[in-house]
Amino acid sequence: MKVISILGSTGSIGQSTLDVIRLHKDSFDIFALSCNSNIELLAKQTIEFNPRYIVCKSENDAKKLKKTLPNKIRSKVLFSDESNNFIATNSEVTHVVAAISGSAGLESTYHAAKAKKVILLANKESMVMAGPLIMDLIKNDGFIIPIDSEHNAIFQVLHGDSNKKKSLKKIILTASGGPFINMPIDHLENVSIEEALNHPNWKMGAKVSIDSATMMNKGLEVIEASYLFGLSESHIDVLIHPQSIIHSFAEFIDGSYLAQLGDPDMRIPISYALGFPHRICSGASSMNLIGKNLSFFKPDLKKFGCLSLSYNALREGHNFCVALNASNEIAVQAFLNKQIKFTDIYKLNFELINRINTLNLSSINEVFSYDAEIRNLSNELIKKIV
Ligand code: MG
Repeated sequence: MKVISILGSTGSIGQSTLDVIRLHKDSFDIFALSCNSNIELLAKQTIEFNPRYIVCKSENDAKKLKKTLPNKIRSKVLFSDESNNFIATNSEVTHVVAAISGSAGLESTYHAAKAKKVILLANKESMVMAGPLIMDLIKNDGFIIPIDSEHNAIFQVLHGDSNKKKSLKKIILTASGGPFINMPIDHLENVSIEEALNHPNWKMGAKVSIDSATMMNKGLEVIEASYLFGLSESHIDVLIHPQSIIHSFAEFIDGSYLAQLGDPDMRIPISYALGFPHRICSGASSMNLIGKNLSFFKPDLKKFGCLSLSYNALREGHNFCVALNASNEIAVQAFLNKQIKFTDIYKLNFELINRINTLNLSSINEVFSYDAEIRNLSNELIKKIV
């Protein structure tokens, strides 16, 4: 029996995880669920799945939750980041689904890695901000199964055959190109928040939807893949594939390519990670490829400058990746708050990256304080723009 804590159970990944678990209730024991702000949904999930613990953000939310839950529900209600660390590290837990959105997800992922849990990783920021530290923690006996569809595809293609890794030439991450793939570059400046949020293939949260529109999401995924699979940036390519059918592929030295295909449905990578090493039903229906044209082209790095910034950051070193992620979170929030234009997201990230120097971040606390320093610097830069 897998005993699972889901960090971020009310977000889109958390909900899809519970959709898959609902199909296999006898195989999974839900130890804990946690949410950021959606306590109404957390209450519903608690009534259905009866976890031992539920975690919300504040004491106030915890009080509201307790009042909402019927008496027969015995789940203990906790709050705060420390409680997320508790459910990520408890000795009864075997698997942790790391599905908190953004940099807020790092701390609990790090603790889960330290406690040698099997981590089903949807929070890419954990790898972007602390990839070298986390990979060092798990190198002997830990295990990460990526849920991010591209990395899950590469994991599926490479897993179980060490020869495959030796003969790997490069990996190719696919990208839908987001909502602005066909928009002329000079129209980008004045796009609205609604247009930027309108992803053609995937239903996702606001931050990752905006990141898809700038292609920063793919940039962060290049960094994630570099740390996760131990590959330098020169071994990671990105191809635009608007249909989102091939979720990524690997090229081998003999000219063979192995790919993972499927409809753009997050239940597929989630079910792979939950069932591993066995495949389990995800609830997805069969894919209809008849009449579908699969196309691929190179990303326009002038139009999607954020993508090339991620390659620069990887070349410069770990702290540049932390800085790019922090600056981008501040910039995206400022765009969503209508403080800056869509194209200012790239400008801010570019400015920030050009103001910092290489330095060594050797502990998680150093990562957090550097992250905070960069956020202050980014906020200063925003003031100069607006
Ligand atoms: Mg992805």
